Amino acid sequence: METAPEHVIACHECDLLLHDMTCQPGQDVICPRCHARLYTATVNGTERLLALSTAGLILFLPANLFPILTLEVLGQSQSQAIINCAMSLFEGGLFLSALLILLFAVVVPFMQLITLFYISSSLHFRWQGRLLRQAMHSYQQMRGWGMLEIFLLGVLVSIIKLKDLAELDIGLGLYSLAGLILITTLSSIMYNPHQLWHQIDLHRNQSDHHG
Ligand SMILES: [Zn+2]
Repeated sequence: METAPEHVIACHECDLLLHDMTCQPGQDVICPRCHARLYTATVNGTERLLALSTAGLILFLPANLFPILTLEVLGQSQSQAIINCAMSLFEGGLFLSALLILLFAVVVPFMQLITLFYISSSLHFRWQGRLLRQAMHSYQQMRGWGMLEIFLLGVLVSIIKLKDLAELDIGLGLYSLAGLILITTLSSIMYNPHQLWHQIDLHRNQSDHHG
């Protein structure tokens, strides 16, 4: 039987051409010439992504709505959530910084979570998933553009700088933000494009047979 050209893959280390093969969960495909690991199948990969993206979407609300810090200076207290930080910068004339915070600390992380949720739930519950391919492409483009951890770093620096000047209270938002960073990092590690593309192909073949 002839193999279609798209089922040939090249080793990323030594360029050896190999027939693409499916591997069982927990198994690795190793290059026979240079022993590089070509790809690996994660056990319950889709379910893990589904669990992580659901948890992330739930945590997204408190991370954005609850105050990250409460500042108290001379009897006046001020609470700041992520949105308020962007608003304060905007009012202070720092339009670009406000826009960057909104984009990379709110919009992109949310889009990443919702895209992962769409991909994993469509595959797990065998929903139609007409936009699975587009979703995979957009997730791959968005990877690396969520900058929650840089935002958190900024918050930690301001805590250190302000702790002598004002009374600081760490809010529920900061803990949620830390949890959200953990979840986005874990889902980025669990994201296995080779396995997902393979499942999308299977999913599409099944849908074609049914309808
Ligand atoms: Zn190789």
